[in-house]
Amino acid sequence: MSHFKKLRQQMIDEQLKARGLHDQTVLNALGKVPREAFTPADLIGSAYRDSPLPIEENQTISQPYIVALMTAALELKPDHRVLEVGTGSGYAAAVLGEICENVYTIERHKTLADTARARLKETGYTNVQVKHGDGTLGWVEQAPFDAIIVAAGGPEVPQTLKEQLAIGGRMVIPVGQSLNLQKLVRVRRISKDEYKTEDLGDVRFVPLVGAAGWQEEGNERS
Ligand code: SAM
Repeated sequence: MSHFKKLRQQMIDEQLKARGLHDQTVLNALGKVPREAFTPADLIGSAYRDSPLPIEENQTISQPYIVALMTAALELKPDHRVLEVGTGSGYAAAVLGEICENVYTIERHKTLADTARARLKETGYTNVQVKHGDGTLGWVEQAPFDAIIVAAGGPEVPQTLKEQLAIGGRMVIPVGQSLNLQKLVRVRRISKDEYKTEDLGDVRFVPLVGAAGWQEEGNERS
């Protein structure tokens, strides 16, 4: 077994299963994506560390456990259409691309969007489309989505994203008025005008910056 494959298996056993994550679809997906291919070159030795890692533009590649937890909460099936807001390194988009045929991901930093697009191509995730822009506005041409995952914390759940959920669709998003701590929530669209919100626990994410997020200036943190 190669070095990285061994580390990946350890990550599955010690970081995911050990914390009670047993969704086999999600474990299989994280077991396949080469996280080292989405990690900055100088941090490649830490690719499978049990923590977020810094990437360009003062952003982060999320902790493997958080990617797994959020992905499991989306209740994905292969034919589901998925939108990710906050492409970052492209790692979580690749995990989604292992599970679903159609993945759309939006990143507000052009350098990150371009790098992630190139990495996803190199690693063979041709079913993932990357767009540079403000993800709080969603991707109206590709809506509705069966699942939406927001990988940055905003003050509230963006109304535009709620409207781009299919009936029965799920959105997982960190929300809260603090930049240091958010609640991870799952919003389920029950009918045209009805949504059900569940609390999945406390998390700490970089800010969601955009029309329905925080304002551009100040307060960026990892
Ligand atoms: N999913 C990423 C990965 O696997 O590497 C981690 C994402 S990082 C925690 C959050 C990302 O959200 C950052 O790259 C940030 O630039 C991006 N972001 C913040 N606000 C955004 C917005 N309104 N639209 C799109 N991307 C946004």
